[in-house]
Amino acid sequence: MSKSNLILVENNIIKTCKESKRDRKDVNLIAVSKTKPISMLQEIYNEGIRDFGENKVQELVGKYEEMPKDIRWHMIGHLQTNKVKYIADKVYMIHSVDSIKLSEEISKQAVKVQRIIPILIEVNIADEDTKFGVKKSDCEKLIKGICNLPGIKICGLMAIAPIAINAEDNRKYFTALKQLSVDIKQKNIDNVCMDMLSMGMSGDYEVAIEEGATHIRVGSKIFGERDYSISNNK
Ligand SMILES: *Cc1c(COP(=O)(O)O)cnc(C)c1O
Repeated sequence: MSKSNLILVENNIIKTCKESKRDRKDVNLIAVSKTKPISMLQEIYNEGIRDFGENKVQELVGKYEEMPKDIRWHMIGHLQTNKVKYIADKVYMIHSVDSIKLSEEISKQAVKVQRIIPILIEVNIADEDTKFGVKKSDCEKLIKGICNLPGIKICGLMAIAPIAINAEDNRKYFTALKQLSVDIKQKNIDNVCMDMLSMGMSGDYEVAIEEGATHIRVGSKIFGERDYSISNNK
């Protein structure tokens, strides 16, 4: 079932890229597999998917151990400082960096395992009380405060748009994130490249692609709705 869902999503991505004159290769599909069993991940791995997104450290580590080693694991959820050490050698990229303290810990752990971890700055683009992420107005300050840390590379911005009934309602947030990244890029801050924009989920990934997303994070449209009633998936 995940396989046929994946084909639908892939066809939509191709169509949207064509319509917005973007190269399909510039849009990375991350399959968000949180709460889903290994068998479902394996099904779309077999279809060629190599980018998977998880939002819990323990779950990412568990799946990392069980799945093939050529997978790129994306940490997309809120990350506690004391847990960075468990994923520093496993995670491909961290999308959810929103503080100096967290950046310093990622830096420290990256140096320990002798790698450079690509990170994105999570922006609370709609200024929602319920969301993590830095305020738009604090983004540049955070970047300037962490850009010289060893072991990390700031690659761009990430945002989780509000839950919208109509995907069009989120277009303004995607354009705002894009504009913010253009503004920051123009400042030519040391070690900062603003080439990546992680935005768009199952409900609005087409609009996000139209507005310049380089990474879309799609869960339920590939794997089906999540069941949070299973307690160990909370
Ligand atoms: C769960 C999650 C997604 C995927 O959500 P869907 O609506 O199921 O596509 C994307 N990004 C983040 C940060 C998530 O936590």
